[in-house]
Amino acid sequence: MFSPVSILVVTALSSILSILVLISLRSHAIAGVPRWIWANVLAIASLVLFALQNVAPAWLGIVVANQLLAATILLVYEGCNDFFDVRTSGTRRWTGWMMWLGVLAGIAYFTYVVPDAHVRVVIVSAFHAACDLAIAGRVLLARPKERPRYNYLFVVGAAALGALGHTIRGAIYVVKPPAQAALLQPGPMQITFLALGILVLPSLCIGLVIMAHDRLAQRLERLARFDDLTGALSRKALLAAAAERLARAAQDGRREYVAVVDVDHFKSVNDRYGHAAGDEVLRHFASIVRARIREDDAFGRIGGEEFCLFCTAGCLDDVTALVERLRKTVEATPSSVPGGVLHYTFSAGIAAWDGRESLASLMARADGLLYAAKVAGRNRVKAPAADALS
Ligand code: GH3
Ligand code: MG
Ligand code: MG
Repeated sequence: MFSPVSILVVTALSSILSILVLISLRSHAIAGVPRWIWANVLAIASLVLFALQNVAPAWLGIVVANQLLAATILLVYEGCNDFFDVRTSGTRRWTGWMMWLGVLAGIAYFTYVVPDAHVRVVIVSAFHAACDLAIAGRVLLARPKERPRYNYLFVVGAAALGALGHTIRGAIYVVKPPAQAALLQPGPMQITFLALGILVLPSLCIGLVIMAHDRLAQRLERLARFDDLTGALSRKALLAAAAERLARAAQDGRREYVAVVDVDHFKSVNDRYGHAAGDEVLRHFASIVRARIREDDAFGRIGGEEFCLFCTAGCLDDVTALVERLRKTVEATPSSVPGGVLHYTFSAGIAAWDGRESLASLMARADGLLYAAKVAGRNRVKAPAADALS
């Protein structure tokens, strides 16, 4: 049942399944996936040639089969580089393929010039162990630290297992080569090594798919969390962050403030310069604000041309001064739109949390002051006469 050929066939079938799963990810334009698909295509070709080793000529069953499998693992590594957007330049970019050519030269030499199956095994295993280690290292170093670790460590584990298997195999062939060296001769060494192969290659591919799915989840979470036009927090994320801030402020007695901000006469921007210019103004406004607030502040778009800023401060005057600075900057920094530059302003209402009221009540008070700023002539900031807590 565990004949070498049957193990090779099962591994090839698992590569077909990996290709089918990876193809499902292609429409999401995830970097790395095309190379991982090609890696599996080469793996299938290689495994078929290994399975035919007894009937195929040496150049096909040994040289080409080994080179295709070596290219497989190299493509998996290069796909990981693509996935993590790691760019290697100059000769470093070709190091892997130069080593691959080295393997080709070694296999050809020890097949035709000085036939020695043991040395061939050592060369091939050294190459695979190096690539497996490179994959494990790349994923370990480049994985996004804020994402669930399991989604990345799966690949690291599979690659490390591959590296270990090849290192042990290579070492055995250096120290005490077994009697049979040909892959298809059913000895305990071959079966163990092939069984490891059946485990490592599919596990590696499952891990790559898990990583790609984590990338998709990351994109969706980002879409839900941020407004895609302005990069500010989405309304939902902002309200969730605001509720958290009030709960924290209630615990540690910090003072929490909110500014509700609305771009003035924005409808006429759209009407006169077009919707695309309006969008550009919104992006411009959000980038000015984001560049001038602290990382701890929560800034989000609550609808149309209306934004909200939650911040912790020592007193109301500090917040008023911050929003007034933003108002002056926006007034003095026109937005570039197709066909020229566009001056615009905003109005704002500020409210200080009184330590008890609901989020809705706090925002309603800020909104009331925003309305007052609009009525008073726009391009101004309205704040309550005194701090809510003092
Ligand atoms: P006010 O000074 O009183 O705030 O007047 P306004 O014109 O800014 O306010 P109004 O509520 O009358 O108009 C808001 C406009 O914002 C209407 C809507 O078409 C436009 N708008 C909402 N969302 C977007 C968007 O994402 N992009 C663009 N370009 N326009 C938007
Ligand atoms: Mg407006
Ligand atoms: Mg509005």
